[in-house]
Amino acid sequence: MYWEKDVETMPREKLDELQLARLKESITRASSSSFYGTLFNEIGFNPDDIRSLTDIENIPFTTKDNLRDHWPYGFLSVSKDKLVRMHSSSGTTGRATVVFHTAQDIDAWTNAVARSMYMTGMRRGDVFQNMMAYGLFTGGLGFHYGAERLGALVIPAGAGNSKRQIQLMQDFETTVIHIIPSYALHLYKVFEEMGVDPREDTSLNIAFIGAEPHSEKTRKKIEELYGVRAFNSYGLSEMNGPGVAFECEIQGGMHVWEDNFFIEIIDPETMKPVLDGEEGELVMTSLLREGMPILRYRTRDITRIISGECPCGRSHKRIERIKGRTDDMMIIKGVNIFPVQIEKKLMEVPGVGTDFQIILEREGFDDVMHVRVEVQKEFFTGNLKQLENLRRKIVGELKSDILITPKVELVEPNTIPKSDGKAVRVVDNRHD
Ligand code: ADP
Ligand code: ZN
Repeated sequence: MYWEKDVETMPREKLDELQLARLKESITRASSSSFYGTLFNEIGFNPDDIRSLTDIENIPFTTKDNLRDHWPYGFLSVSKDKLVRMHSSSGTTGRATVVFHTAQDIDAWTNAVARSMYMTGMRRGDVFQNMMAYGLFTGGLGFHYGAERLGALVIPAGAGNSKRQIQLMQDFETTVIHIIPSYALHLYKVFEEMGVDPREDTSLNIAFIGAEPHSEKTRKKIEELYGVRAFNSYGLSEMNGPGVAFECEIQGGMHVWEDNFFIEIIDPETMKPVLDGEEGELVMTSLLREGMPILRYRTRDITRIISGECPCGRSHKRIERIKGRTDDMMIIKGVNIFPVQIEKKLMEVPGVGTDFQIILEREGFDDVMHVRVEVQKEFFTGNLKQLENLRRKIVGELKSDILITPKVELVEPNTIPKSDGKAVRVVDNRHD
């Protein structure tokens, strides 16, 4: 049941020791990069100053802007001839950042992904369809290599082309898919159009869902529609990509692979550590990377540490599903709202379809939130009163959670534009 039992179930004390040893190595390697070399000189920091894990607090945070400002090679700790691969972020919030890997980095990353997949029950003999964009985005090749290492048969389907995806699943009896959650919901409409029932007419039993925030409701919906168990997969290109944190068969939060990463949770305002179990921003330090170590990286992702031991026996800390990025947070009439809160409420209302979008407008001096929601076709053919009742119900549900009254518009399926990649949940027209 474990890919590497010794590492996965390592007692806390030993894991702390391993982390400390690797942290020192990682900081030492980092000091040979132009960015950290200069920084350490400026603040008079010496890697030998690290005696305990909390001593890491003497190193300033690294931000996405630092990566952008020292683009492309300022974070390299090895000479360029040692590098074998480059990847970049999706550029969701601005210019994409690039990350470079040595052969050893690729090997460690591949192992972490294989370990993650194995933990969910995937095995040799499974047919794995990777429905993520290949290329610079890490979700394609990252999962691809991991699945091959595990010994599965990999179908590198790539993103989009929904009908072909369904055809591949049927022809080759795909058992495991890797898919963006919003796309999984969207793809279901194509299944319906083709008259194919994923529960009955495919061999699917596991889905890896990640790359964007989603609620527990959405997970459940994907599990019901597809007849699979869906496992949350978290990663970011700055920390390799997938294989950073992953759910085990218990599905109670994601284990962070602490032999590869050191994590902290901070209050994004004060930048101080939060109390144990409190919500805050995840900060990550790579422990094994040699090509481009990154220390105390502010992910901007909001989560918290789940306390207590996981029944699966793995000792690596668990984090809760990501609530959103600090920069996705909308402030409307003084209320802080994450898009996933809207998603969660919508998924609870029967009749709601699979896609939605939030549009923010400034009307006079007021910020107004418009929510466009796809609902099932039947509502548009039958009695329109039903449609209005549904609309009112949605307004009420949303208001009860976010405390402001959004303007809700119900639209037919396939109205809201869908990208092959991460869903664009919020369109902010409030500028100027
Ligand atoms: P970008 O930051 O440009 O989107 P990446 O492809 O590196 O580029 O995406 C990493 C980010 O995607 C994470 O920082 C996080 O915000 C989001 N993400 C990845 N996996 C998940 C997940 N399972 N749940 C929620 N958000 C996720
Ligand atoms: Zn577990």
